[in-house]
Amino acid sequence: MKDTYFTGYKCIDCGKTMHSTGIIYLCDICGKKYKVGEPLIGVLEAYYDYDKIGEEWEKCDKNLSNLLQLFSPVAVEYFPEIPVGNTPFYQSLRLSSFLQNKGMNLESVWIKNDALNPSGSLKDRASYTMTAEAKKLGVDKIVTASTGNAASALAAMAAAAGIKAVIFVPAGAPPAKIAQIKIHGAELIKVDGDYDKAFAQSLEYTAKHGGLNRNTAYHPFTIEGKKTVSLEIFIQNNYKVPEWIVVPVGDGVILTGVYKGFADLKRAGITDKMPRLLAVQADSSDAIVNYWESNKYRNAIKPDTIADSISVSAPSNARWARKLMIETNSKGVLVTDEEIMTAQKELAQTTGVFAEPAASASLAGLKTALKNGIIQPTEQTVLLITGHGLKAVNFNL
Ligand SMILES: *Cc1c(COP(=O)(O)O)cnc(C)c1O
Ligand SMILES: [Zn+2]
Repeated sequence: MKDTYFTGYKCIDCGKTMHSTGIIYLCDICGKKYKVGEPLIGVLEAYYDYDKIGEEWEKCDKNLSNLLQLFSPVAVEYFPEIPVGNTPFYQSLRLSSFLQNKGMNLESVWIKNDALNPSGSLKDRASYTMTAEAKKLGVDKIVTASTGNAASALAAMAAAAGIKAVIFVPAGAPPAKIAQIKIHGAELIKVDGDYDKAFAQSLEYTAKHGGLNRNTAYHPFTIEGKKTVSLEIFIQNNYKVPEWIVVPVGDGVILTGVYKGFADLKRAGITDKMPRLLAVQADSSDAIVNYWESNKYRNAIKPDTIADSISVSAPSNARWARKLMIETNSKGVLVTDEEIMTAQKELAQTTGVFAEPAASASLAGLKTALKNGIIQPTEQTVLLITGHGLKAVNFNL
């Protein structure tokens, strides 16, 4: 098996292919049209030698570490030693019977608990791959703008890799996530303004001081990192692709990562099926679901949700998210804060899983989809739990 079968990039907007062994972000043509405060233009999709991967997979032990290596853009030797991913995946009969008691039929509901990553969220997957890329390139620092989990994850992974992390945090980031950034020794730069301002400052910083920028979807390997959750689900589900995966959506990068993992498997001929995705957004942070439904993009008008991790005005990856939803016949639903809080409690009390509000939106969205007949009772459905409840505790329960 080779170190990596990664071959290059393709722009999701103009289709231009690019090759680079150095630092690369957006398409060199489309990226020029991007303005801060709007979704990214010219996000790059990583490509692999899929024929070779298919051949290798036929020959090797069909286990998780081989699958991860085949589809990794960075050789295994560069990853920090801290284990990331390989999180629990299991059927929840209790959740099935709970739903049934509420008049919703779903025989096969599964939990993929990514809250059990080292820093407590799925974001560790992206930061893990990005620190490996930084090691490979020999850069001494990684820079990001984030309101929370991407920052906590980068701080933890950079610490594990022995690299400096510089993190721009907008006003209003939750205290537990700030504490994580500090405890791991990252340089925390508080920004007087919103995420867009933090994003702009992080770009100015890397332009001036160098380092690798980990902003979500801006670097294509953030998506490659997140796709590993799908490679795991495929193995853990006995080499089968589920019918539905329920994904809470802010910037749309987890959604894209989940899609990309299965798309890569399909391109290599390892499966011929794609799952459908249920994209769940908070009703005040609805830019992607609205774009998918109306085919006309606008920013969310006033994001104001308890689910801080999915509170986004201009989702970075809105363009690709809409494309993949149409390609896979996926669906989008909106949920209220009240539905999210109810779902958080129901999940905690029927399964023992304490998810942060954004992650609890999965269950809230699933209930909506069942009530509306979007998901059928016999379809295998995976609830993706993206972040831990201890990150955003409500002390007034
Ligand atoms: C980041 C995040 C999301 C949403 O991911 P996007 O890529 O922004 O769509 C959902 N849940 C949690 C817990 C997160 O941290
Ligand atoms: Zn382009």
